[in-house]
Amino acid sequence: MSSPTRVFHRQLHKPMLFAVSGQGITLTDQAGKTYLDASGGAAVSCLGHGHPDVVAAMHAQIDQLAYAHTSFFTTEVAEELANVLIDTAPAGMSHVYFVSGGSEAVEAALKMARQYFVEIGQPQRRHFIARRQSYHGNTLGALAVGGNAWRREQFKPLLIDVTHVSPCYEYRDRRTDETAEQYGQRLVAELSGAIDRLGGENVMAFVAETVGGATAGVLTPVPGYFKAVRELCDRHGILLILDEVMCGMGRTGTLHACEQEGVTPDLMTIAKGLGGGYQPIGAVLAQGRVVDAFRQGSGLFQHGHTYLGHAIACAAALAVQRVIQRDGLLEQVRERGQQLETLLQQAFGDHPHVGDLRGRGLFRGIELVADRGSKQWFDPARKLHARIKSEAMASGLMVYPMGGTVDGRCGDHVLLAPPFISTPAELEEIVARLAGAI
Ligand code: PMP
Repeated sequence: MSSPTRVFHRQLHKPMLFAVSGQGITLTDQAGKTYLDASGGAAVSCLGHGHPDVVAAMHAQIDQLAYAHTSFFTTEVAEELANVLIDTAPAGMSHVYFVSGGSEAVEAALKMARQYFVEIGQPQRRHFIARRQSYHGNTLGALAVGGNAWRREQFKPLLIDVTHVSPCYEYRDRRTDETAEQYGQRLVAELSGAIDRLGGENVMAFVAETVGGATAGVLTPVPGYFKAVRELCDRHGILLILDEVMCGMGRTGTLHACEQEGVTPDLMTIAKGLGGGYQPIGAVLAQGRVVDAFRQGSGLFQHGHTYLGHAIACAAALAVQRVIQRDGLLEQVRERGQQLETLLQQAFGDHPHVGDLRGRGLFRGIELVADRGSKQWFDPARKLHARIKSEAMASGLMVYPMGGTVDGRCGDHVLLAPPFISTPAELEEIVARLAGAI
């Protein structure tokens, strides 16, 4: 099943399986074994594999033009994609900056925030505030805002100043004597305290995933939290950067997760589902006032990458958006999401080692515990999440596991992010195989 590899993979000790082909929600390896892709890779493959419309659009674009550097040209396909993204973005967002993935999008957003304050004459703003148990990418800036001390530690000193506050982690952190709203207010008060300590006039931006993803098994915000965060940021002139690289582009049932919170960020990062896995692509969506500050100031964003706005990536992303719109896939994510929630409840609602089931749409997290009453985690040395992944793979199922110790907290989590095109029968099969693995 596995073969030696000379590709420099992340886990060098591990033999790798070879993926050979993909169709619908299924991947096939070199031995002909098939896997249901219940995680969309890492919440990427929103239309599954081999989608004919996306493939055709990419072929047509390759035949016409693959690459033109943006210091010389824009392309029709990049402009069309930008129009679609702005027409569907929260009101007030006016421009799109294309990059090649999630970390690049976060990196660009951080630099946009910094340059914005330089442009408007507030260069003393040097601090970011972000959240613990978050993930924003692996490049140095993205790593610095990410709330995972273990990932950051060996790469210190990181290049930017970041203060971390608590994330929305209702299952663990909401006290029994407070409502969800009160818990949200407590979190916002903590953020407010951090701002006051740094001095509001010194803070550039608050960076948060709208719905947490890759660190602690899908952390959904409590009602009113982001509205209060938005107000607090506005009061201090601080930018709100929402990272929707994982939770965005339809995954939670609306194109952007922040729509469900009733807030518009100043900058929003998207990637993963944007290209659906057909091409690496990411983007920063920016509010008009940020873009205007650049326009009225130096007129230049001091940043750039060789492949930004790559025509084939834009063609793939445009085709993904057109399929989502044509086939009513956001509505389908909401419906199938409810079905998945019910199936998970049926399979794991009474399971002695499933502490929490959470998520929105087709973005679901399962938190495993040694004991439901005390919510105590399993010993991290047992690497339960990794064992669930291998059991699932053995039964032909791809799920995204998370575990280990993050900011002093451990835990085993499983993330599900099946393609939007998954049928009810496929979702049933996913949950059945997962139940077997767990
Ligand atoms: N932000 C979030 C919220 C993510 O989940 C990820 C990837 N898991 C990234 C940023 C980084 O994206 P990439 O791996 O494409 O660089």
